[in-house]
Amino acid sequence: MIQGHSLSERRACPVCGSTIYMNFADEHIDQEKINNFTYASRKQPEFMCFHLVRCMRCNLVYAPKTPNRSFLSAAYADAAYDSGQEAQCAAKSYAHALVPYMAVLRNRTLAVDVGAGSGALLPWLRDIGFQMVIGVEPSRAAINAAPASVKPLLREGMFGTELLNGVRPSLICSFMTLEHLDEPGQFVKTAYSLLEPRGMIALVVHNWCALLNRLLGLRSPIIDVEHLQLFNPRSLRTLLTESGFVSIDLKSIRNVYPLQYWLRLTPLPAGVKTRIAGALHSLRLSDTQVSLPVGNILAVGRKLSDRKE
Ligand SMILES: [Zn+2]
Repeated sequence: MIQGHSLSERRACPVCGSTIYMNFADEHIDQEKINNFTYASRKQPEFMCFHLVRCMRCNLVYAPKTPNRSFLSAAYADAAYDSGQEAQCAAKSYAHALVPYMAVLRNRTLAVDVGAGSGALLPWLRDIGFQMVIGVEPSRAAINAAPASVKPLLREGMFGTELLNGVRPSLICSFMTLEHLDEPGQFVKTAYSLLEPRGMIALVVHNWCALLNRLLGLRSPIIDVEHLQLFNPRSLRTLLTESGFVSIDLKSIRNVYPLQYWLRLTPLPAGVKTRIAGALHSLRLSDTQVSLPVGNILAVGRKLSDRKE
């Protein structure tokens, strides 16, 4: 259960450290809707959130008070998992967006995917030539859902130096995970210190300033109790710059999902969704793959040397 007493002390902006903000959304949590899907990926959107504010310096939207670390670790460890097909679709979209950047990455010693879920991206990383591939994932259910060939590549837990056995990654990627961390700045600093010189970080996040999210407002699926912060291009660039990354590049990406999944994300009433889903099914369109720009951004940055360690 998410209850008031489990919330942290008030935090400053977790990207730039500013304490100057304006209100963005009041807390909206229905305790009766909290279950083991609350901290699962790609659930039916519930449009619940903690109190959210907007940083006046870097434009990050964030919760000043978050559940404490032990609560979050336990919640993700025990989260349910039901997103196999969608995870495959998402991995394809991210791989497609990463291709141009992989051409400039000379070393391919180790690639680490943080928040790897059932490891959908890992076979692609192996296929493009990484000698070692590791996925870090806190959810046991997600790891259990991984194919037998991928499961040995997954490490259960939160991201940390001890998971890598001293091997320095050439690439650290993390897709749709940064929003869930109570210290995203610390995560990116740790990634910087672990990467080998000229190594690369690649992040995908929701962009709260994207047109679709602005139009939907608090009925956007990015309004989620799991999300402790929401980025936009400025705050994401600040996050990487403050940690020492250079050659930072940001671009909007498109996601490809089956029509039935896009329908699930809409803020339509449940009865309307059920009728549309029935129509799609009878027209055999449920699994039709559709590519849409729904306001996600990819950011990559390079580490030049070890000077920041
Ligand atoms: Zn800020």
